[in-house]
Amino acid sequence: MTLPLSTGQSGGKLIIVSGPSGVGKGTLLRRVRQTGLFPLVMSVSATTRAKRPGEEDGVDYYFLTREDFLARRSRGEFLESFEVYPGGALYGTLTEPVARRLEEGKWVILEIDVKGARQVLQTFPDAVSIFVLPPSFEDLEKRLRGRGTESEESLAKRLAQAKSELASADEYKYRVVNDRLDDAVADLTAILKNC
Ligand code: 5GP
Repeated sequence: MTLPLSTGQSGGKLIIVSGPSGVGKGTLLRRVRQTGLFPLVMSVSATTRAKRPGEEDGVDYYFLTREDFLARRSRGEFLESFEVYPGGALYGTLTEPVARRLEEGKWVILEIDVKGARQVLQTFPDAVSIFVLPPSFEDLEKRLRGRGTESEESLAKRLAQAKSELASADEYKYRVVNDRLDDAVADLTAILKNC
């Protein structure tokens, strides 16, 4: 299945949201979806990483074995796919569910890393790109530790990755600082009203 040539044809929009792990993208997006102002749906990515407690297959991610992921990739089923952390799990966006939701006129949110965003923007330059920033790097480290879902090793990887991702924020059309959640929700809402 291919994506509609113009994402605008059906009223659908492709919205890329990136930002370092722990910055609060999930909470922010949930709050904006709850306003009901926009026909937003989250794209469910595929990953080879282990499921965290409370995560559900088909809801948070499609949890695939590496073998299955690679087979699908070689069949061209991904819009983009990357090893987000060097030497780590694979993550990717499956084309078919995204195309289906765009045809339904939905605004599809891709919560993906910087490499994935670049790839999608090459194919869809009219996708809306938004980067979520922490108020400071120290704040990000505090949040990531507070979440308590990562081992020290995984935490170190995520923080190193965050440093390099933050340097790419200027490549995005819009930036939102997630300091006070209510302000970030208002900022993101204003962006979506105008995009
Ligand atoms: P986590 O393991 O914390 O769920 O996700 C780690 C990072 O992987 C997220 O910050 C997100 O940006 C990135 N990610 C999640 N899904 C995808 C995807 O489908 N493609 C790409 N390129 N990155 C993804």
